[in-house]
Amino acid sequence: MGVKKGLLSLFLGSIWGLGTVVAGPVLILDYHTFLGTKTSTLDYSDKVMGEQLDRMAALGFQFVTLPDAIAGKTGPRLSIVLTIDDGNHSIYQAMHKVFEPRHLKPFLFIYPHAIDRSRFTITSARVHELEKEGFLFGAHGYYHLPMTEHAWRTDPEQVRHEALWPAEPLTKILGYRPTMFAYPYGFAPLAVQKLVLSAGYQWAFAADDKIVPVDFSDPHLAHGYVPRTIVYHWNLPILMRYLEHYAAEHPLKHPAT
Ligand SMILES: [Zn+2]
Repeated sequence: MGVKKGLLSLFLGSIWGLGTVVAGPVLILDYHTFLGTKTSTLDYSDKVMGEQLDRMAALGFQFVTLPDAIAGKTGPRLSIVLTIDDGNHSIYQAMHKVFEPRHLKPFLFIYPHAIDRSRFTITSARVHELEKEGFLFGAHGYYHLPMTEHAWRTDPEQVRHEALWPAEPLTKILGYRPTMFAYPYGFAPLAVQKLVLSAGYQWAFAADDKIVPVDFSDPHLAHGYVPRTIVYHWNLPILMRYLEHYAAEHPLKHPAT
């Protein structure tokens, strides 16, 4: 840890009255659906998802919400942030069967065009209900169209709509204007990152298969492109090995009970 960062952490630690506790990094995981149909590499049944979370907890990992991670309310060790993209109808049941019983509040990135769209997508009534129960939401484009370099070059108007249109309908449903944005398909060039931040979002999130811990206390962390790890079936063993290795390298002072 550099001197500057160490001093910043000490400073933040003293603000929260936590003495010399240093805000640790977070790994932001990105999930999608909980149908249990085995047809998608992104899908987990409630049971398998629950087991996955329990394995992470058994290794001593603390789950923190996205706003807490941003505010530096993490332990000194690597913590895990859960995010879920798109707005599949199965998130409603998973919140109540998987996440809520474990006192976990994943951050939900949804795109307005999906809401009330079909029997596969979540309804505005259920989004509203989850919001009342304390789940937090962000924008994930409007139509879920790519915001990539190629899209920006060939159809900038479409990319502008993805950035500018979600806030109004989401504000109507949620009762607040979302401040977080996740790029559909996970990628965006610098110009699009700037566009999204200028549209009023404080943080915008990328996503791919890489495992990249994020340090929100790092003043150089780009607000417009915070990495997340998509949890596919095929990279789950890699992720679990990474977490097991981290847990072995950073043993808990007081073993998890
Ligand atoms: Zn998506």
